[in-house]
Amino acid sequence: MSEPESRSEAAAIAAAVRRVVEREVAGGRDELLVHAVAARARAGNVAPAGSAEPTPPARPGAPAALARREASGVREALADAAGGVGSGTGPAAASPAPFNLFGEPEPPAASAPAAVGEPSAARVPLAPVDPAARATIERDALPVLERIAATVRACTQCGLCETRTQAVPGVGSARSGIVFVGEAPGAEEDRRGEPFVGRAGELLTRIIQAMDDAGLIPGVPLSRETVYICNVLKCRPPDNRNPLPLEIETCSPYLREQLAILQPRIICCLGKFAAELLVGVKGTIAGMRGKVYRYQGAKLIVTYHPAACLRNPGYKRPVWEDMQMLAREYQN
Ligand code: SF4
Repeated sequence: MSEPESRSEAAAIAAAVRRVVEREVAGGRDELLVHAVAARARAGNVAPAGSAEPTPPARPGAPAALARREASGVREALADAAGGVGSGTGPAAASPAPFNLFGEPEPPAASAPAAVGEPSAARVPLAPVDPAARATIERDALPVLERIAATVRACTQCGLCETRTQAVPGVGSARSGIVFVGEAPGAEEDRRGEPFVGRAGELLTRIIQAMDDAGLIPGVPLSRETVYICNVLKCRPPDNRNPLPLEIETCSPYLREQLAILQPRIICCLGKFAAELLVGVKGTIAGMRGKVYRYQGAKLIVTYHPAACLRNPGYKRPVWEDMQMLAREYQN
């Protein structure tokens, strides 16, 4: 092939790659894609788009071959992002439970959400669901959780210690292996020292109860006592403002300690701040939900915060679909 032909082919392939990336960006999967391409680049296959890493020196006739390699890397990265989590995270069989959580008429069932994985976290074994194993984890976790809670209550590592009434470490147990992670305590939580006890908390409690009533996970009782509920921040930001990055950075080690000792089978991130922290990428809830990520030995899903459901009742249906997905993924 002549050099002009080679350059022309390289340009055509590069344009095709660009179109694929643009489609993925439009679909909210850009950061997963970049992450996956970067992972492949680290494995020595291809330089990620926008990477500062040096690319191999060009050889005569190389542009077309390089563009083919990039196209191949992007295709493989897309395949990773679309299903690379490993066992139990492929598209789940839809078996919708009756939806009467909010006393509303049953709308037509949506198609089952696609399960997409975080490519780099597929290798860690999943935490157990066996009741005996969970009972052991629960027993061993209890004193550690109490120690973490005592440390949190005395914590003065960020400015929120000056405005809180009391810190809010978390509530529940490791029994089921399900953990809900929200954003930060609100006024009622700050007053009572317990997470999710205001209006949004009441809704979360009803959601958990509805999951139990619907028998979404046969043989696993679901309640505030059998799941664990906590927040990214353990102290209330004044006027319920959003958490600041430095506050999240300072406080999140407590959450990570809690998760390490709870050994959850599945984590449900309630809202953007928990999702971005634990998934490790920025995005919208609409773009992140409907997929299954991994956090250490747990699967992780993302859904709307109950407070968002109170503001926008249209979110209740997707939240219920996410709870059904949670139940399926828990059992797979
Ligand atoms: S928010 Fe977290 S880091 Fe800040 S004072 Fe409270 S417990 Fe400590």
